[in-house]
Amino acid sequence: MLLFDTHCHLTDIFDSLPENFPADYSCIGNILSVTYRYSDWDKNILFAKRFVNVIPAFGIHPLFITDDDKNHLNQYESYLDIFPTSIIGEIGLDFYHNPTYSEKLKQYDLFSQQIAIAKHFQRPIIIHQRKSQQECISLLKSQNFDCGGFAHGFSGSLEQALQWIDYGFVLGIGCVLLRNNSRLREILPRLPSWAWVLESDAPFMQKNNSPIIIQEIAKIAAKLCNKNTEDITNNTTNNVYRILNMYS
Ligand SMILES: [Zn+2]
Repeated sequence: MLLFDTHCHLTDIFDSLPENFPADYSCIGNILSVTYRYSDWDKNILFAKRFVNVIPAFGIHPLFITDDDKNHLNQYESYLDIFPTSIIGEIGLDFYHNPTYSEKLKQYDLFSQQIAIAKHFQRPIIIHQRKSQQECISLLKSQNFDCGGFAHGFSGSLEQALQWIDYGFVLGIGCVLLRNNSRLREILPRLPSWAWVLESDAPFMQKNNSPIIIQEIAKIAAKLCNKNTEDITNNTTNNVYRILNMYS
């Protein structure tokens, strides 16, 4: 089994990918190519059509909302239709920079509409949240969202981790684990092996970041959990298949 990068912004890194992409990433089996604005959706479709190992996700991120977005929401259907395995993300709430009341309202409004679409089409969601986990979960629950998904870039407490897990989400473990003093290093071994997956978030988080970084993350995870990298690979990739319903 190969590694699965569950959060990569291929539309942002495509020009810097190795010439023989994806063959040069021999350790990576699949990539979930995540978008954060409508203007990248077409490009994402092209990648997913060209590379069988790329699964597209379509979303509008809370910090990239434009006045035009509402007009595009009804086009989700055609995008999701092209790829039955495609999902919605990244979407959510971001209160990190203390948004104003009206900014918050806009974030809530767009997030809520995208949750409704995910529920309607029964697709998992990739959640982006900063300083808003409680608000995200409350909104999802108030809309009876029950398709699970990925809590991307997880770096919270054990209690916060269990909140997502109880709700049917897996945690996206990424570059935060590479930091020596990260709290995540203490939490990870205490989580069930079926509850987390790996992500690069390339090109963000690290200088020159690329999907290949999840190999490093898997190695550290293996050490922390007292397992070998092969176990980590099998567990995390199987977890993604489960969320995406990619059973063969
Ligand atoms: Zn992202």
